[in-house]
Amino acid sequence: MTDRQVQANVRLLSPPPERTEPVTVLDSLPDRPSAALVWEACGAAGLIEGLYGRAGHVVPGRLAELLAAVDTRGDNGVTLSVLVQAASALPVLAAGAPDSGPVRAALGHVRSGAATLALAATDRAAAGSDLADLGTEVTIGLDELVLNGGKRWITTACTARYLLVLARHRPGRHFTSFTWVLVPADAPGARITRADTDLLTGADTGHIEFRDVRLPPDHLVGRPGRGMVAFAQHMGTERLAGALWAVALTSRVLADTKERLTRRHVDGRPLWHNASVRQRFAACLVQVAQLDALCDSLGDRVAGHHDLAAAAVLKSAVGLVVDPVLAVCAQLQGADGLLRDGAQRIRSEAAVFAIGGGVSELVLDTVADHADALLTELRT
Ligand SMILES: Cc1cc2nc3c(=O)[nH]c(=O)nc-3n(C[C@H](O)[C@H](O)[C@H](O)COP(=O)(O)OP(=O)(O)OC[C@H]3O[C@@H](n4cnc5c(N)ncnc54)[C@H](O)[C@@H]3O)c2cc1C
Repeated sequence: MTDRQVQANVRLLSPPPERTEPVTVLDSLPDRPSAALVWEACGAAGLIEGLYGRAGHVVPGRLAELLAAVDTRGDNGVTLSVLVQAASALPVLAAGAPDSGPVRAALGHVRSGAATLALAATDRAAAGSDLADLGTEVTIGLDELVLNGGKRWITTACTARYLLVLARHRPGRHFTSFTWVLVPADAPGARITRADTDLLTGADTGHIEFRDVRLPPDHLVGRPGRGMVAFAQHMGTERLAGALWAVALTSRVLADTKERLTRRHVDGRPLWHNASVRQRFAACLVQVAQLDALCDSLGDRVAGHHDLAAAAVLKSAVGLVVDPVLAVCAQLQGADGLLRDGAQRIRSEAAVFAIGGGVSELVLDTVADHADALLTELRT
């Protein structure tokens, strides 16, 4: 037997390499790592690749584990960046990637953590709640694509190597008028400016302008006209991810609040022993437990079967739970809630749950659209 055959046999007999836990990977990073560093570490440890099952669908348990581990670091902007890339941008890119070429290469770079990717749908020419009105245009020629327009409030835009851009290739609101284009962030004519906000700064959110950005035709992602369908199919995964992160974030803040209530004494007794405080806290705990149960019961339907009604139920539930729970926590922390990075700030940042990826009102509309089917399900 040659040396090489021996080595191959040893490899075959060896147990598969241990999967590194997300918490362990993140623990090895310095304090306050950037979103790009977190992404790179997770990618290098195989945690991003490991999120997707055989059919390319996100495995809800693994996504929950990753988001909970990132959330533990306490930088909500970084968690938002990881969430959008893992649950929205990468699945859309993967669905439209051919077997070779620049889109396939970008997919490999992003999955391995070597590069970051922003998903740019929200348009400067239209309300985010009216995506079909978007103004960014791609002209599809035989030799080149030309992109003009602008995007706003795009997570990771300021640091991403690639921008996945939703553009229209023909006028009109029909769902077949839209196409995804992969734009290297340093392409001539692309200009990115940081969003003027003190909230979620770790997400590197920015606005993007495209002025005659010229690219080879192999930068189209998926077939022309499939853009909106692909987006709608994968939007559910981002909504599930939002719900999983909401559970992680609210339970982290609840745990911190309980710890503070146990230490804080009023009239010689810990505040935690005050009946009214306990009941308010318990009501929050019940709401978060309900959201967690909803994630468990709907996760596979959303991630594996693109069940958009289930995704709308999940996102609506997030909108109904997160703000009231965080408001109670912030109030129960008293003045300390106003500390830098304290509960009041977390509450402000958590406003993104009811805005990003579809405002609460819009997803409640979708739930109402499916009322009969949902009621039938509840009654059988
Ligand atoms: C931190 C952050 C990160 C983001 N990241 C991304 C990203 O990575 N990629 C991306 O493409 N976009 C991103 N967005 C944009 C986000 O998707 C949009 O903000 C969202 O779709 C809402 O659009 P809008 O802000 O234009 O609000 P509008 O559509 O102008 O709505 C304003 C308000 O009007 C009300 N409203 C709207 N529609 C209805 C309705 N049908 N019924 C009742 N009331 C309604 C709601 O109260 C809503 O909040 C991000 C936004 C934020 C804040």
